This record gives sequence, structure tokens and C-alpha cells, in this order.
Amino acid sequence: MYDGRTNYIAGRWRAASNGATFPSLNPANTEQMIGIFARSGAEDVRQAVEAAEQAYPQWSRVPKPERAALLLRMGRLLEQNKEELARLMVLEMGKVLEEAQGDVQEAIDMAYYMAGFGRMPDGYVVPSERTDIYCAARRVPVGVVGVITPWNFPIAIPSWKIFPALLAGNTVVFKPSEETPGLACRFVELLVEAGLPNGVLNLVTGYGSEAGTALVEASGVRVISFTGSTAVGKQIAARCGEQMKRVSCELGGKNAILVLDDADLELACKGALWGAFATSGQRCTAASRILVQRNIKTRFLQAFVERAAGLHVGFGLDPQVEVGPVINRQQLRRVHEYVAIGQQEGARVVTGGSVLTEGDYAKGCYYAPTVFDGATPQMRIAQEEIFGPVTAIIEVSDLEEALAAANATAYGLSLSIYTTDVRKAFRAMEQLEAGLVYVNLPTSGAEIQLPFGGMKHTGNGSREAGWVAMDYCTEWKSVYVNYSQA
Ligand code: NAP
Repeated sequence: MYDGRTNYIAGRWRAASNGATFPSLNPANTEQMIGIFARSGAEDVRQAVEAAEQAYPQWSRVPKPERAALLLRMGRLLEQNKEELARLMVLEMGKVLEEAQGDVQEAIDMAYYMAGFGRMPDGYVVPSERTDIYCAARRVPVGVVGVITPWNFPIAIPSWKIFPALLAGNTVVFKPSEETPGLACRFVELLVEAGLPNGVLNLVTGYGSEAGTALVEASGVRVISFTGSTAVGKQIAARCGEQMKRVSCELGGKNAILVLDDADLELACKGALWGAFATSGQRCTAASRILVQRNIKTRFLQAFVERAAGLHVGFGLDPQVEVGPVINRQQLRRVHEYVAIGQQEGARVVTGGSVLTEGDYAKGCYYAPTVFDGATPQMRIAQEEIFGPVTAIIEVSDLEEALAAANATAYGLSLSIYTTDVRKAFRAMEQLEAGLVYVNLPTSGAEIQLPFGGMKHTGNGSREAGWVAMDYCTEWKSVYVNYSQA
């Protein structure tokens, strides 16, 4: 159990400089504490940034294949510790075990994928217009990278940001969510075991309003990579803009699944169930809107609601459980408030709609999987990110109306269409305004070989994973060399 010495700075585990701490609790039983963690402030962040600045000159000169070897070893350690990490994830943030294993697997994949880039070209040579001039461009690291992450993918998201940053030769200060500091500590402990040199990655646990803002303000930090809510992302982007600090934002979503009348309804129903309720709807890619063509709506609704109502809600280490708790009591209240808003707007709850309080549920943050019928595209429940096990069925007359409704939100992360008509699928692939488009698949389920991220208010154009993963933490340097003889 962690005892408050959870900041890892310059190769040493330490408490917050003023001794402040905070607890991390199990959302399935808020009486159970996962550990006590350092509540870092500006002084701790200052020390972490200083350590990263000091380590940078040496780390950036380590041959890239050697930096890649660290990731290879990290991949192996993640594999060896996958089960333990997944079980801790169930305890600390409430994902069901299979999903938690998937979260760790994404980090394993990312470690190996990025390690492969250690020997790939990182620039190119072009012919010059002049004689005996060598012209080349290559990626160079930016310096100290500040990484701020949410709690919903507590191992995968840090790995998408930290592995490319380290491979490129940057050093890092990592501020994880206050909800998942235990997992962040385990992640860093494994990196240390993999051979992380002192100061190359520094961890500061604590609150966003304290450690997070200090990291954004720190003058030694050259780039911030942030994943979290759109509201916080906008604040961070504005502050980074004022400081001419680079910033990569991966933010909220209001994703939709379009179900056309020629769709395989069984497939669509299964996909919508996973899209809406995986991680209790607490995914940036959660399908919180289901746009169904009018002539099949009754059939779809009946099948979907029956399954949603039958979902087994509970503690994620129980193999029967399909939907875990939400992250904390504040989120539980927020979800319930949104359900009330939906009802006031005129939508009808057809299953769920309540906090679960009986028996074992009483100690945890459980909400019944909830489906609204009769929602319309402009309602708040169809426009705002709820981040809970709530989805809204919206009737549409045809593909045209479905595409327009799907695009009619501020967000642009993930949109999906179920159809057996290849022409309609291609039209949707072209016209859907989202960074991720799925055909006959739910809105969640990314592979690390492809860029991940969103358009519009979901982000500022940067992407994680894929071969563009290093874009956010590298700059291009062009060099010209005159080698003509005198
Ligand atoms: P959040 O409240 O925005 O927090 C994200 C991170 O930022 C946390 O580490 C948080 O610390 C920190 N933070 C909060 N306020 C800050 C500030 N003023 N300055 C600096 N850092 C600050 O989001 P969340 O509740 O953890 O995560 C859920 C959100 O993330 C959803 O909106 C979801 O859609 C989004 N998300 C997006 C993606 C994507 O790839 N697009 C992926 C996953 C999640 P504390 O935890 O201490 O508050």
C-alpha cells in the first residue's frame, strides 16, 4: 500500500515537499482505500521539471536504438505484470477485468510498436538545386514534455504519450489523474525496473488544480500533452498559447452510432451495447447517441433495451459482471442530473435511470445502464458529454438526416454506421466529421497502428498512436551542408 512517498523525482521516491497527501478510493467500495499519495504543489513540480531539464542533454544523445531497447524491456515487464496491473485497475477505477486487461494490452502494444521505431528512418535527404550541397531534414526532440492524463485509460493513455516522448529523446514530467495515482506509480516502477535513467521520467501525483496547473505554467516545460475534458483542455490550451508552449489536446466526445434499415440488427445491437456501456459509458468514444432509421426503430429499441436491462452490474473482478461502477460519487450525481435533464427535455427513460443503492451496491458508485427513447438531436442529453452509462435513441428518416444529426455536435471523436450497403458506408466514411469512423463496428476499440484523436472540440489536431505518434513531441530540423572543394 502506498504511504505518501509517491513522487518520483531525479530517480528517488519522495513525499510532497510540504508533506500533504490524498487518498485513492475503490469506486466499487468507497470505504476501501487503495493508498495514500503525495499531494504535490508548485515546489514539487519545480523540482520534477528541474530534474527533467538536467537529464535532457544526456538522454537526448543516447542512440535511438538504445532508447528503443528501454521500451522493449518495458513491453516485456508490462506483459509479465499484466494481470496484477489489470486487477489493480479494477480496484482503483472500476473497469471490469477483461476491459482492464485490454487497457494494459494497449500499453504493451504501444511499447513494442514504438520500440520498432528505434531503427526506422527519422528524417529524409533531398536533392539540392545547387552542386555539392547536402540537404536533409530530421526529427529532433523538443526538451521537457509535461504529460497530464485522465483516469479512464490509466495505463494505456500514459503509454501513448510517454513512450513516443522517451523514444524521441525528450524527458518527461508526468501528472496522472488524482483518481488513479496507484496505477501511475506501478507504471513508473516498471519503467524504473526496465532501466529508466534518473531524471528521464519524473512523476508528480496530486490534483489538477495544483500540480496540473503548476506543470502547465512551468517555464522549463516545452510541450504539454493533455487528455481530459474539453473544458479543462480549453483552459490549458489558452495558457499554453500565451506562453508559446506547444500543446496537444485529446478531449471529450459525443459519439453516435447510426443504424440504417439495411443493417444486420443483431450486429448493430451488440455493437451499440458495447459502445454505450463499456467502462460504464466513461470512454471518450462512448456511444451516447444511437441514431436509428424510423422503419426499424421499434424492433431495434426492443432488442436493445432488453439487453441493456439484462446487463450485470457490479464489481469488475466478478467474472459475471459486465458493467462496473462510475468513478466517484460526484460523477454518480452528475449522471443522475443528466437523466433528470433528459426527462425535463421530454425524452423517456425506457430502462435504468437510477442510482443503485441496494445490498453491495450501497458502498459503491453504481448507476443502472440507462436508455432514453424519444430524444432529439438538439437536446442537451444529445449534445453534452455525460460520461456515464446513459445513451439516447434518436429516430431519423434516412441516411441524409442521420449524417446531419451525427455531425451536429461540437465534438468530433468517434462515429459509427451499421449498414450492409457499401455505397452508404462509403458516403458515411466521407461525410462523418470525426477523427475515428467505424463501419459495422462500435465507436470504441482502437488499434495503436492508426492515429487516434478527434476533430472540432475534441482536440487541436494532434493525434496519438500510429506513425504520427511522435509529431507532438518532436520538431523538424532542416540542415544544409556545403561540401564543395575550394
Ligand atoms: P479532466 O477532469 O479534464 O482531467 C484530466 C487531467 O487533467 C487529470 O489529470 C486532472 O487532474 C488534470 N487537470 C484538471 N484540471 C486541470 C487544470 N486546471 N490544469 C491542469 N491539469 C488539470 O478529465 P477526466 O475526468 O480525468 O477524464 C474524462 C475526460 O477525458 C472526458 O471528457 C473524456 O472524454 C476525456 N478523454 C478524452 C480522450 C481522447 O483521447 N480524446 C481519452 C480519454 C478521456 P485531476 O484528476 O486531479 O483533476
